[in-house]
Amino acid sequence: MNVATTDFPQVAIPPARLLIGGAWVEAASGETIPVVNPSTEQVFARIAAGGAEDVARAVEAAHACFESAAWQKMRPLDRGRLLERLALLIEAEADDLARLESWDNGKPLAVSRHVDLAFTMDALRYYAGWASKMAGEYITLSPFVDDGGLYRAYTERRPVGVVGGITPWNFPLGQAIQKIAPAIAFGCTIVLKPSEETSLTTLRLGELICQAGFPDGAVNIVTGHGDPVGTSLVAHPKVRKIAFTGSTRTGQHILEASARQMKRVTLELGGKSPTIVLADADMDQAIPGAAMAIFGNSGQVCTAGSRLFVQAEVYDEVVAGIAEFAAGLSIGHAFDPATVLGPLVSARQLERVSTLVDGGRGDGAEVVTGGERAGAQGFYYRPTVLRNVAPGARLSREEIFGPVVIANRLDDISALKAAANDTEYGLGASIWTRDLNKAHVLAGQIDAGTVWINTHNVLDTAMPFGGVKMSGLGREFGTEAINAFTETRAVCMRLDPTGLE
Ligand code: NAD
Repeated sequence: MNVATTDFPQVAIPPARLLIGGAWVEAASGETIPVVNPSTEQVFARIAAGGAEDVARAVEAAHACFESAAWQKMRPLDRGRLLERLALLIEAEADDLARLESWDNGKPLAVSRHVDLAFTMDALRYYAGWASKMAGEYITLSPFVDDGGLYRAYTERRPVGVVGGITPWNFPLGQAIQKIAPAIAFGCTIVLKPSEETSLTTLRLGELICQAGFPDGAVNIVTGHGDPVGTSLVAHPKVRKIAFTGSTRTGQHILEASARQMKRVTLELGGKSPTIVLADADMDQAIPGAAMAIFGNSGQVCTAGSRLFVQAEVYDEVVAGIAEFAAGLSIGHAFDPATVLGPLVSARQLERVSTLVDGGRGDGAEVVTGGERAGAQGFYYRPTVLRNVAPGARLSREEIFGPVVIANRLDDISALKAAANDTEYGLGASIWTRDLNKAHVLAGQIDAGTVWINTHNVLDTAMPFGGVKMSGLGREFGTEAINAFTETRAVCMRLDPTGLE
């Protein structure tokens, strides 16, 4: 492992403030939260510790903007232009934003630049196009009281109102845009609460949003802890919808709290996704593909392929290949160009991954490679392959959210469906095979929001994304996004039977 002592990049750090109604303000409490660089464990910035009072002001600002004549009358094309302008501003400083993201989150600079920033700009442009495509439908009616075909009906999509967006720390800027862009495209306003671990790029985004000319209050940003900021947002009666990405546990709290006001919710939650390698797979693709399915972003991906199922004939070859691939991955500082895997995001996350693996080892899990922290400074954990883990063990059942894969040998392919679905989650899955028939039969058998064939973790805003079972509720992206941020209104009219008289 190579931890370079890279100096702090020359990027402006956004001050510890909140964006409320177009103005940058300190938290009402005046308190701040330290921001730690995961590559070095050094505190390098502070963010404002927002509270219930700040959330209330932000929601009022979002509500006032939503109700304003200017917002209500804004042409859909012009909402799209706001998003396009923001995409251009982000493009102009994509390198700086990537540096800020890597410093805050720890992910390698190339990943920030070519994954996070690329996704962010694509998503903005995708949703910019949607703003002008909110269409309803015309419906032919057969009412019981029909008196000569006099009834006409149509539907229209209405924005839900003020959205509360709550995001995690693994793709901070991309997640912020995943909430802001559809909200604005479909005519909502939003209060966004980024993760307290990684708020900096969202704050810089706020500055660019102001520069792009978004009306005051259309986008508000309140940083701080889940409780009180997230909880206050969920409890506020003027927030009509919560768009949440994060852990299943927090998602459950949000769903319960939202029930009281029948708030709309979309929940993008955790996973324990299977990667399935059949004996006929192209191993030159399948082995590195299955390896990066789990080790990409140091395993901190909701759809990470954390349960590996390999047909018995090729089990030893695949497990050895993935272990060799893992051992060859360069772990290091986010700014070292050689780095493929950065640190985990926080001391807490490192502790969780270490505890789960150590516990599993105590229960008989065999460590093929990894299984330990890398280096003494920075939250680094070696990419890890484990086998001989029982299907009921914690390691097999809980989302680890680190670079740890559990290898399972598949002796009977007819048992694959039950084995792959033996999890409370259902977010993603990948199948590696050259047999088209098997690929599609299996794709139809896996309980997951997304099934990939001969690839993994390909996300595209044009493709609906979300989970089944405990992995979430609703879908984001694609044509489904419109349902997530709008309500359908039906309008029914009776014509005057006198016609043109
Ligand atoms: P988390 O649930 O701890 O936190 C997510 C956000 O919710 C943070 O902003 C946090 O401050 C806030 N929060 C915490 N408690 C809250 C409460 N009671 N009410 C309202 N908000 C609250 O998740 P995390 O650790 O930041 O992120 C990792 C998790 O996110 C993993 O489980 C991962 O699978 C999941 N995730 C899912 C997707 C997806 O699209 N399905 C994508 C990325 C991450």
